[in-house]
Amino acid sequence: MESIETVSIDERNRLNFSGGPGVLPDTVLRQAQEAIREAPGAGLSILGISHRSDWFASVVAELQDNVRSLLGLPDNYHVLFLQGGATQQFTMVPMALLAGRANPAEYLHTGYWSGKALPEARREGLVRVLWSGEPHGYDRLPADNELAFAPDAPYLHYVSNETVEGLQFHRVLGRDDVPRICDMSSDFLSAPGDFSKFSLIYAHAQKNIGPAGVTVVVMKDELLKDAPAPGVLPGFLDYHEQIKASSILNTPPVFAIYVVLLVTRWLRGEIGGLTAMGRINAAKADLLYRQIDDSGGFYQAHAARPDRSTMNVTFRLPTPELHYRFIEMAARAGLSGLSGHRSIGGIRASLYNGMQLAAVEKLVEVMRDFQSR
Ligand SMILES: *Cc1c(COP(=O)(O)O)cnc(C)c1O
Repeated sequence: MESIETVSIDERNRLNFSGGPGVLPDTVLRQAQEAIREAPGAGLSILGISHRSDWFASVVAELQDNVRSLLGLPDNYHVLFLQGGATQQFTMVPMALLAGRANPAEYLHTGYWSGKALPEARREGLVRVLWSGEPHGYDRLPADNELAFAPDAPYLHYVSNETVEGLQFHRVLGRDDVPRICDMSSDFLSAPGDFSKFSLIYAHAQKNIGPAGVTVVVMKDELLKDAPAPGVLPGFLDYHEQIKASSILNTPPVFAIYVVLLVTRWLRGEIGGLTAMGRINAAKADLLYRQIDDSGGFYQAHAARPDRSTMNVTFRLPTPELHYRFIEMAARAGLSGLSGHRSIGGIRASLYNGMQLAAVEKLVEVMRDFQSR
């Protein structure tokens, strides 16, 4: 087995299976590096460019267009670039849409991250947990016949891809007459979908589309018709104010937003859009799940088969001793980020957009080798 010193930094960056911050495409890393010396067309380091400059205004405008175009959304959707991560959206959503309402908002509790949204919503108003995966350790998602959506809920909130457990909805949930709100932090822009069925989608960048520091919020204009009037909520936490300021209410994370722009250019130009990206992501996940399924029970998948995630593949080895030896052997081959989230343990291989098929082939090779020893 090669030692870690023989694996180049480019190769190790490609073999980063971390759940987040996640791997980014080579070309994006290279352009980001160049932009630190001189951002193309700006004549300055991106770290010293004013967020009030024309250059940055054009970055924001192009990125808004790219997000709308990749998601196939019409002009009545606002595209915002906010701070505070997905966690801040756990609060901003109920502040705007739940506080003071007579009926509870409906939340699904399908894993670690949807669970983190619950106490934040409860602080603002009434919450009904429509379904919880807690009794069986979040190893599957609900079927349609387990979900009775109320017609008068202010909104439905769920997480499209549970990053920690490796569970992903492969369909859109809910009713057309209740606003759908979805945390897509770990599968945003990973595959095509019917995104105009959602009233609000949020996704921080650091799992699938960039570095930490910026959260993309896509919101249908009419969603705010029943929200508190502008000026009632703290300005920073008020969607009205953020929309009015075109995401530049205060100093935004210019560099992070620029890297997300580079990722969307890569998706549109090099990959060819979300249909092509979805095919690539499915091929990577299929390869890994096949290795797990063909291991005769040596590797055991955590997630129920129909709900398996294409982004985060979670599995276990037979004993803790074997787990540590596997992580060690993988590290010697240059593979990093494979330890599962502290809340569930095991192995988690995250296969975000920037991960190449060759990296998954390498992982599968290490798994095969390890098992045969
Ligand atoms: C990582 C993660 C979060 C937390 O995001 P922060 O940006 O750290 O607040 C929320 N939701 C999902 C689905 C995640 O994967």
